[in-house]
Amino acid sequence: MDFFPVFLNLKGKKCLVVGGGEVACRKAALLMQAGAIIKVVSPELDASFNILLQQNVAGEYIAQRFQPAHLEGVTLAIAATDDAAVNEEVSRAAKSKNIPVNVVDNPGLCSFVMPSILDRSPLLVAISTGGASPVLARILRGKLETLIPQGYGKLAAFSARFRDAVKQHIHTIGQRRIFWENVLDGPVAEKVFSGDEASAEAMLLTMLSSENQTRAGEVYLVGAGPGDPDLLTFKALRLMQKADVVLYDNLVSKPVLDMTRRDAERIFVGKMRGDHTLPQEGINDLLVRLALEGKRVLRLKGGDPFIFGRGGEEIEKLAEHKISFQVVPGITAASGVSAYAGIPLTHRDHAQSCVFVTGHLRDGSMDLDWEMLARPKQTVVVYMGLHGLEILCAKLIEHGLAQTTPAAIVQQGTTQNQRVVCGTLTTLPHIAQHEKLQAPTLIIVGGVVSLREKLAWFKPKNLL
Ligand code: SAH
Repeated sequence: MDFFPVFLNLKGKKCLVVGGGEVACRKAALLMQAGAIIKVVSPELDASFNILLQQNVAGEYIAQRFQPAHLEGVTLAIAATDDAAVNEEVSRAAKSKNIPVNVVDNPGLCSFVMPSILDRSPLLVAISTGGASPVLARILRGKLETLIPQGYGKLAAFSARFRDAVKQHIHTIGQRRIFWENVLDGPVAEKVFSGDEASAEAMLLTMLSSENQTRAGEVYLVGAGPGDPDLLTFKALRLMQKADVVLYDNLVSKPVLDMTRRDAERIFVGKMRGDHTLPQEGINDLLVRLALEGKRVLRLKGGDPFIFGRGGEEIEKLAEHKISFQVVPGITAASGVSAYAGIPLTHRDHAQSCVFVTGHLRDGSMDLDWEMLARPKQTVVVYMGLHGLEILCAKLIEHGLAQTTPAAIVQQGTTQNQRVVCGTLTTLPHIAQHEKLQAPTLIIVGGVVSLREKLAWFKPKNLL
């Protein structure tokens, strides 16, 4: 270990920053976040630094070149000037007085290095490469940003409030550890993350009063997006890696499914056209049963769970059984697929509104509000519409849309199998018949489709 990591308490302590430019200002801002009093020494001071310093109540600015006397009463010093001689002087003078000193971008002159910081106060993660590669530390911090949700700071502060009470109630260290694991990795934590600290507190106190530390089950209804795993939200990923059991269907792409916890049980509850593997009621009941067994259940759904996903019905059942659940929105097909196809859903010249409809056939017909759909300057996105494509195009023309209105079908949008077939309301049904399109497919109708010629940017690998 080249450096010994510690966390310093700088509240009310005077810290010297030598330099008045942008870098010095950034360091001063960090020290201020830790409650330090800033003393800036520099012949000149940037305007933005001056503004910052005014927020530091006892902060002072000395418009001079650095002298060792400036180190009087200082707890820590940072040199951030572009003058190598000054930086060296600060380092030498501070070291001779045993004051910790950092010289920006010059590890040889430092007695301490500044880590890359992930701040979820009171939770702090500091990463250092000992000055070897600050960029690597920053990249790593970026990765951790995605793993440690914002709410962890709140969670740490929340836990602190109950530490003494837990110590009084649970006497053995082992039992206390189980208790805290259940709190920090279970429904209580999820309640804190979603901002409901009152329920979190009630749940924690109930757990505290129960004899055995068992776990209550919960359900995460998570939108998995349209296919590209990079389109998952941080929250979706976090819950995917936490769940004990995963219920998924055919819209969830394999790369997305691969991101769930390795040892989680996976249950396919997909629905194929005309072959309903497990009826919706069966899925609802299964969710309830698994949660009552104390499992953390992930219900992973393609796109967004509340858009043509029957997500609402699934959680209604959970609510009736008082099972804890949360819903994580996902990028819906219309949004993801249009972005990757280079078709903006709205555009100043082509569409001021956009509607999403389902084109699912019932008894061979499509029950839609055709007048509304055939309005000018509007984009219509049709989910589950391929089998009714002919009816769809004919009805839109019948209700007033021009035969030449551009229309597109996007197959497996956002994935490496994406294909986009373009035509007009008249030609598209014929074109579709000759293309062997693979589900899922999305239909987009409106002037915006013509923009694709110019805006297509995504190049799938498996382009046929
Ligand atoms: N909840 C989902 C929609 C479920 S309905 C969402 O928000 O996206 C299923 C329909 O979504 C499919 O029939 C298809 O029309 C559309 N769809 C979903 N993913 C798609 C994709 N990657 N490419 C094209 N269409 C998609």
